[in-house]
Amino acid sequence: MKRVLITGGAGFLGSHLCEKLLSKNYEVLCLDNFFTGKKENILHLLKDPKFEVIRHDIVFPIFLEVDEIYNLACPASPIHYQYNAIKTIKTNVLGTLNMLGMAKRVKATILQASTSEIYGNPSEHPQKESYWGNVNPIGIRSCYDEGKRVAETLMMDYHRQNGVDIRIVRIFNTYGPRMNINDGRVVSNFIVQALTNKDITVYGDGSQTRSFCYVDDLIDGMILMMENKENFIGPVNLGNPEEYTILELAEIILELTKSKSKIVFKPLPQDDPIRRKPDIELASKKLNWKPEVRLKEGLMKTIEYFKKVLKGENVI
Ligand code: NAD
Ligand code: UDP
Repeated sequence: MKRVLITGGAGFLGSHLCEKLLSKNYEVLCLDNFFTGKKENILHLLKDPKFEVIRHDIVFPIFLEVDEIYNLACPASPIHYQYNAIKTIKTNVLGTLNMLGMAKRVKATILQASTSEIYGNPSEHPQKESYWGNVNPIGIRSCYDEGKRVAETLMMDYHRQNGVDIRIVRIFNTYGPRMNINDGRVVSNFIVQALTNKDITVYGDGSQTRSFCYVDDLIDGMILMMENKENFIGPVNLGNPEEYTILELAEIILELTKSKSKIVFKPLPQDDPIRRKPDIELASKKLNWKPEVRLKEGLMKTIEYFKKVLKGENVI
């Protein structure tokens, strides 16, 4: 039985990954400092004897014996990663360093959850893995996107210098059940606003684009990457290439929720990328992976989830 460590395991993506790996009969160690993660996300897994939870902050070293490490610990929403920018940098740099140190010591394979943000405000469209990006090194998003770029550098250097078995996935905007209701990301904001008949807050004129991947598709891609037999280390883009403007997204959510909310326009945050869409040819060729869930189908599942959360119903 493989023993797997998932840092950030109580977060949105991490909790789905814990669940999926337990269902594949792995022993799962979920490590989290509960900054943006929640016990409710993993409560239903606690009865499984193969599951263990560790409250720990990856900025500090920890000694564990595992076969695989998925390094997801890091707040992903701009409002949360900007709340304590220095902590975000520490998590990405010192935290990744600690996890790489562990991988080296116990000869574990380590997968880093990188991000499309490493491409910054891209001048190439769609974004291929070969593109080096257009990132502001001193802006308010830098703690996250430069932090994740250093994390990729550390992964590559541990691989070249110490032979650590690594995997890098660049995750594009992902949504689904267990996103935090106060997460601040666009899908959860718009759905919650629509369901509570509050104004839908479109930042800028809403012409900026994103490509939204449903969580189940993303988790399948991550596991395929970790387990690929070719020792393909990446980096590889994982995301859904269907591109929408933020205004289109608002209109689709209004239609699906049959909401009476009005769309209002708010200032565009600094350094907000104008467009984003993954080129997923590499993932398709190397991992035989492509997303299956269409936007409206995934949004309906997410809407059902938030309806229950808003009613105070059990969502597990
Ligand atoms: P999330 O905020 O729900 O989860 C992050 C988890 O990490 C939380 O449980 C949080 O408590 C934990 N954490 C944060 N700092 C920590 C620390 N120092 N030590 C231990 N635990 C810590 O976010 P998510 O959407 O689940 O994202 C997970 C990972 O995937 C992140 O690394 C993020 O950068 C990456 N990612 C996500 C997306 C997306 O669209 N969801 C896109 C690109 C990359
Ligand atoms: N956005 C918006 N209204 C919101 C939240 C976000 O218009 O209430 C916009 C945001 O400015 C960005 C896009 O939606 O252009 C995606 O934002 P998110 O924070 O979800 O992810 P990221 O910017 O990291 O891709």
